[in-house]
Amino acid sequence: METTSIVNGGLRTETGVKVWKDGMPRLLDLYAKYNVKATFFFIADFAKDFPDIVKMIQPYGHEVACHGLTHDHKQAFDVLNFDEQKRHLREAKKILEDISGEEVVTFRAPALRVNEFTPQALIESGFKIDSSVAPQRIDMFMSLGSKKKLAWLKAPRTPYFVSENNLARKGNTQLLEVPVSSFAFPYIGTFMRISPVLNKVTRFFLYHETKNTTKPINFLIHPNELIEEETLNLKTEKRADNYVSYLLSDVLRRRLKQHNLGLNARDLFEEEIEFWDKKKYNFQTIRDLI
Ligand SMILES: [Zn+2]
Repeated sequence: METTSIVNGGLRTETGVKVWKDGMPRLLDLYAKYNVKATFFFIADFAKDFPDIVKMIQPYGHEVACHGLTHDHKQAFDVLNFDEQKRHLREAKKILEDISGEEVVTFRAPALRVNEFTPQALIESGFKIDSSVAPQRIDMFMSLGSKKKLAWLKAPRTPYFVSENNLARKGNTQLLEVPVSSFAFPYIGTFMRISPVLNKVTRFFLYHETKNTTKPINFLIHPNELIEEETLNLKTEKRADNYVSYLLSDVLRRRLKQHNLGLNARDLFEEEIEFWDKKKYNFQTIRDLI
């Protein structure tokens, strides 16, 4: 849950309000229809201004989780040092706990950007579960911070305790990683919308990988994918530091990401849920799964 405008780029409070009023009810209705329990990762700064966006999920038994203090890419977790990460995590956790009245133990980094300090910063801030790794996902060149995401190529595919300085490696800490499912391509709303056909291929592999096991499948979707927004025809913000990276991770990415938003996204997502529902998979929050 964030204020990112997929159509116009950047973070916009108006978008956040639309997500609250349109996107969230669509998602909550869909989940209620199939008895889905989900984990919602909130940007704490936005939740502080609009606390109802957190409270509205609680009657359904969904999990309140943390997506950091801000989604500002200049303050991504892979550019913050250890102390800054700890400050962000503690402040965000407190805001979300004050609003929800429940303990917040699960974290997902904005844009899945993390660094070597993140495991320890999470542990020292009281988090027990992270979900910021997408094992064997190969499209990371399209996203910011892609060099650090190369570690994903060797990440385990099933939940594991992480190492002290790398969320993508097994280790001896008490912090559990629940990876975002992927099979070359990530199993996420964005990809589902950009390429519904390839998404079915990914789903087919994930189904055959998990069907006779207890391996969970972790699907990622944003409520801002379920809203319609007016295009303001703004120039794409240049976040990348060189031109090739700008073309791939800013311009191309933004164009691709605009496919099948709003009600189309909801219908495509319903197909995903129906698929697993027919296969008798259970839909749980990450906290309950653990
Ligand atoms: Zn995000």
